[in-house]
Amino acid sequence: MQTHMAVFLLYLKLADCRIVLVLLFNLVVKAIMNVRFDGKRALVTGAGKGIGREIVKKLVECGAETIALSRTQSDLDSLKQECPSLIPIRCDLADTDSIPNALKDCGPIDLLVNNAGIAVADIVLDAKPADFDKSMTINVKAPIVISQIVAKGMIERENGGSIVNVSSKLSLRGRQNRLLYSASKAALDSVTRTMSLELGPHNIRVNAVNPTVAKTDMSKAVWDNPVKTKMVTSVIPLGRFAEVSEVVSVILFLLSDFSSMVSGSCIPIDGGCVANLMT
Ligand code: NDP
Repeated sequence: MQTHMAVFLLYLKLADCRIVLVLLFNLVVKAIMNVRFDGKRALVTGAGKGIGREIVKKLVECGAETIALSRTQSDLDSLKQECPSLIPIRCDLADTDSIPNALKDCGPIDLLVNNAGIAVADIVLDAKPADFDKSMTINVKAPIVISQIVAKGMIERENGGSIVNVSSKLSLRGRQNRLLYSASKAALDSVTRTMSLELGPHNIRVNAVNPTVAKTDMSKAVWDNPVKTKMVTSVIPLGRFAEVSEVVSVILFLLSDFSSMVSGSCIPIDGGCVANLMT
């Protein structure tokens, strides 16, 4: 009888613990979902379309003073209409010499997302030197130049910061027809790691995200084609492409203090694809 009572009391204690854990978990989830960036200033590149545009909208919604940099003025105009508080900057990142001037009135930046990128389709035997230059300039050199300017300001203010580079699953896996894109994103992963080493002592965290296909203009040729869709999703354990919002939420997490001990990481957003030997 006494043993039964002891087991029963232990069960109640464990049940208590479970309830406390569930409550704590709910609080953490709620806090993460209510991530706020009030008092922070963010810069997002490639903000006119796709993933960058959604990052900007989410940052504005979460209270960040947000600077949206992109190439096409009409995209910036329509984004400004949707988010009147944002500061638009038109700049073609292919011209890296123009970047310092474009950013000169930005003021202090706390959060940076190097999102702009291009995906040139090319094959090993036919890749053009001009495409190599363009891919490496927009996908690697521009993020470095922008990060230099932003990180110097962060270091001067001694206030730390967070930088997220938008890479790709293809930095980690080979794919036909994507020679230069894959190479440039692998370089961006490497840049991310080195930046995290050198900027970490200044409390600046640097991470990358490596998404699989998300439905934007860039990836339309894949998700708009049933044969390619089947081919790609068949090696994704979750069996589907990423939603743009699923990419944005990981980026927001990395920008926020909820990831305060995460730096130098390249995080796949790929439904388990990179874990799959058959990818
Ligand atoms: P989109 O092509 O839909 O949008 C890219 C944005 O970047 C556009 O606003 C574009 O402006 C801007 N941009 C491109 N080149 C320049 C430039 N030279 N100067 C300034 N802005 C520029 O792409 P996504 O939103 O799909 O991609 C965003 C990032 O995510 C990229 O780095 C991409 O490599 C990465 N990614 C995307 C995946 C996907 O499936 N969508 C998968 C994995 C990674 P404009 O239209 O005026 O050129």
